Amino acid sequence: MAPEDASGWLAGVRERLLAWFDVEKRPLPWRADRDPYRILVSEMMLVQTTVAAVVSYFDRFVAEFPDLASLAAADEERVLKAWEGLGYYRRARQLHAAARAIVADHGGGMPRDPAAVRALPGVGRYMAGAILSQAFDLPEPIVEANSRRVLARLVAERGEVTTAKPLARLWEVAGRLVAGERAGDFNQALMELGALVCAPREPRCLICPVAESCEARRLGLQAEIPRLPARTASQEVAEACAVVVDAGRVLMVRRAGPGLWAGFWEFPTVHLVGPDPAGRGGLGPSIDLERGVERLTGVEIVVGSLVHSLSYGVTRYRVRLDAHAATPRPRPGGAELVPGSGMSAAAWVEPGGLRELTMSAAGRRLVAAIRSDPAAWGLPE
Ligand code: SF4
Repeated sequence: MAPEDASGWLAGVRERLLAWFDVEKRPLPWRADRDPYRILVSEMMLVQTTVAAVVSYFDRFVAEFPDLASLAAADEERVLKAWEGLGYYRRARQLHAAARAIVADHGGGMPRDPAAVRALPGVGRYMAGAILSQAFDLPEPIVEANSRRVLARLVAERGEVTTAKPLARLWEVAGRLVAGERAGDFNQALMELGALVCAPREPRCLICPVAESCEARRLGLQAEIPRLPARTASQEVAEACAVVVDAGRVLMVRRAGPGLWAGFWEFPTVHLVGPDPAGRGGLGPSIDLERGVERLTGVEIVVGSLVHSLSYGVTRYRVRLDAHAATPRPRPGGAELVPGSGMSAAAWVEPGGLRELTMSAAGRRLVAAIRSDPAAWGLPE
């Protein structure tokens, strides 16, 4: 018999997990009340990111946009700026679109109908369950990375947990477990146990409140469960950018949409090797930096030395970015700025104004490198 069908198993897991959660839960800012807006923001931020990384961004974001109405009314650039540093900017755009849809279609209040919540931009089955259970105590199940691991171990699901049949079983178990009172607390308890006790490697079974009900523990299979698909290797990408300085100002471009970095400012960048993770239009690989900057901005440049290199990850790519100092090639009358293919704007920016621009985390790191040694880039100390 499957453990979930054994008499008393569901009630035992529920009871012990809730009792543990009451004592051990972390005081997170979106747990302070049951405001559906704050829960929506936290869930959007937590996709692909840890709780520890999200907390400070969450506080900053809700200070700027305290409710659905203020977020819905904001322009996209402000929303991206408030999200800056968190990555996964598509989520920021989806959150913004969801707020607008709630205001436009539901009178500004989060709907309680699961189908209506799932129809919001960026909200899938898991997120709808998290919002509805935490905000309204509706018994909607959740299965995300942490709860999926806990559930798979509890029932010793040996199949690959991203495939249809095992996943359907886990959703079914989650649905049976959450039925009853305190649905929101129960779902959070499941995730919290995955975060604090039932870790991917070396789960702390000795202190686990549901150890007695855990089939993987009974069988000694904690290390084999959950079974996940093999990871695909990340692709190597090489890029170069020019920090073009003229009269104490820096040349910047803003990416047009669509694409990963639409609306973001950057130092004019070209692609050297590998696919373009950001889907920049117009410039294929292997274009040289001089020609690339001219095509992006209309400015002919003289490329100077390589001053700084950094690496960063984006989706499945590992990018190395080489940043060169550069100056405009002298031309009578100066260079005219003409944003090129894939760019919506080009501008000369005072170094102090760089902080106002919405930039990726890699762009911010480059700004910090410039600030720490301005002379190396031809800027005044
Ligand atoms: S007993 Fe161990 S494997 Fe089972 S749920 Fe608890 S921590 Fe996870």
